[in-house]
Amino acid sequence: MTNEQAIKRFETTLGGMKKQYETYSKTTKAFYNDMYRQKGTPTYEETFEMYDLAIRALKKQIGEPIKEHTEYLNDRSFYISECPACWKSLSKISNYCPECGQKLEVEVGD
Ligand SMILES: [Zn+2]
Repeated sequence: MTNEQAIKRFETTLGGMKKQYETYSKTTKAFYNDMYRQKGTPTYEETFEMYDLAIRALKKQIGEPIKEHTEYLNDRSFYISECPACWKSLSKISNYCPECGQKLEVEVGD
């Protein structure tokens, strides 16, 4: 299974769980969440958060092209490279963003 396939499955499962959870009344939601808390297992909200974290972590492992553009200031041009995930400018090009850990697609040119 690739990261992309895993992300898709996580998103589908998460979407289904959220949809079902939304159909529950306030009382039913509280009943389930209390039961899960007593059992020491994650509540619905905690489960949603876990899935979100897993999806975000997997997405960071998929290489994204570096965003590049030119900025002009006082008749001078500056070539700017930015992380596609957190938009921090990258002072040197590496395989991962030093700020957020996003995997970067580094073009090897000549
Ligand atoms: Zn970043």
